[in-house]
Amino acid sequence: MTQLTSVDDALALVLSRIVPVGNEEVSIEEADGRVLAEAAEATVDLPPFPSSSMDGYAVRAADTPTSSGPLQIVAHVAAGRPTPLRLEAGAAIGIATGGVVPEGADAVVPLELVEVAGRALMIPTAVALNANIRARGGDVTAGTPIAAAAEVVTPSLLAALAASGVATVRCVRRPSVAIVTTGTELRAAGEPLAPGQIYESNGPMLAALFRRAGAVVSLTRAVADDPDAHRVALGAAVAAADIVVTSGGVSVGPHDLVRPTLADLGVSEVFWGVSMRPGKPLLFACRERTLVFGLPGNPVSSLVGALLFVVPAIRGLQRLSPGPHFGRGVAAVDIPARPERDDFPRAVIQAGEDGPALVPLRGQESHMIVASARADAIVRVPAGSAAILAGAPVDYLRLDGSSIGV
Ligand code: AMP
Ligand code: MG
Repeated sequence: MTQLTSVDDALALVLSRIVPVGNEEVSIEEADGRVLAEAAEATVDLPPFPSSSMDGYAVRAADTPTSSGPLQIVAHVAAGRPTPLRLEAGAAIGIATGGVVPEGADAVVPLELVEVAGRALMIPTAVALNANIRARGGDVTAGTPIAAAAEVVTPSLLAALAASGVATVRCVRRPSVAIVTTGTELRAAGEPLAPGQIYESNGPMLAALFRRAGAVVSLTRAVADDPDAHRVALGAAVAAADIVVTSGGVSVGPHDLVRPTLADLGVSEVFWGVSMRPGKPLLFACRERTLVFGLPGNPVSSLVGALLFVVPAIRGLQRLSPGPHFGRGVAAVDIPARPERDDFPRAVIQAGEDGPALVPLRGQESHMIVASARADAIVRVPAGSAAILAGAPVDYLRLDGSSIGV
C-alpha cells in the first residue's frame, strides 16, 4: 500500500466503472422508492366524470333560491351508483361526495344549506353555477405525463399512478449487493462470546445502509480467516451480485486474505489504499461489470468507506446522482487537519446562527462504533489544509439516511 489514492481520485475511478443496471416492469406497490425508467401517463381523466365534492343535492343553479316554491327530490345518487335520470327544472337529486353529478344538474348545494320536508327541498340562498362540482379531468386528463423518467416513486406519486389507472411501471432494477464479512473472531449478537471473540456489527450496518440506497442485499457473515472459506464465500458473491462488499481482512496482516482470494478469482484491482482516515486500507476491484469493494474491518472505517464509495456506486447503478451529497455548514469549534490524509471525523450537528454548526465528537478511534452512533454527520477535513477554525465553512455528510436514500 505504498501508493495511496486520493479520495477524489478514488471516487472518480469508482464512478468511471459504473454501467447502469437494466429495467423491469413492476407493480406500483413494488415501485415505492424506486427509480422510474420511463415516463408514466394517466390512462383516464381524473375525476373520470363530474363528481360532487359534498354531501347534498344536485340542482340547476338557476332554480335557486327556491323563493317561488320547493324543488322536488326525485332520486338519490351514492358514490359508485349513478342515476340514469336527467335532472329537469324544478327537481333535485340527492348526492353523496364522489357521486356522479347527473345530466342537467349544474351545481350541488350542501346538506347544511337546505331544508328538507319529505320530498320538498328548500334552498334559502342562491347557489353559484358549478358550485361543489369537481370537473371531469380537473386533476389530470388521460394521456398527460404524471411522472418523468428518472423520478423516484414516493408514496404520493404511487397514489397518483394508482388513481390515474396505472397498475405497473417500468423501473430501474434494484442493484444486488452481496456483503461478506470476514473474521474468525466474529459472532452474531445473541450468540455467547468465547474468549477472544467480539460481536459482528458491520454486516447489519452495511446491509441497512445499502438497502436505504436502493439495493437488494444478501449477507454472508463472519467468514473464517481461512483461504478455503474465503474462496467459497467470495466466489459465490462475485458470481451472483452487481456489487460485492467485503469487510475486514483487507490490510497487510498474515490473516488478511481478501486480496489474494479476489486475485485468484480473476478480480482485478483498481486501487488499494486511499489517503483518508479512517478507512485507509480500502480496496476497489472489478471483474467484468461486477464491482468489488474491500472495506476495512474496523466498524467506523467500514461505515466511512461505505458512505464515500459504495453508496455512490449503488446510486449510480440506478441512474441516481451518485454523490456523496455533502452539505455545507460551519465548524462550531476548531477542527484539526492532517497533513497527509483527508480526515472524516464524526460530529453532531447543532443549529447555529449561520446554519448547521458541526461539533466533532470525543472518541474518534475507528473501532468506536458506539461513540460514532451518537454522531449526526461525518465532516470532511481535506488533507493538507490548515485546521478548520471555528466559524469557518465545512462540508459534512449526514448519517441519518437523508444523504443516502432514494
Ligand atoms: P481487520 O480489518 O479484519 O483487520 O479488522 C480490524 C478490526 O475490526 C479488528 O479488531 C476486527 O476484530 C474488527 N472487525 C472486523 N470485522 C468486523 C465486523 N464485521 N464487526 C465488528 N468488528 C469487526
Ligand atoms: Mg480480520
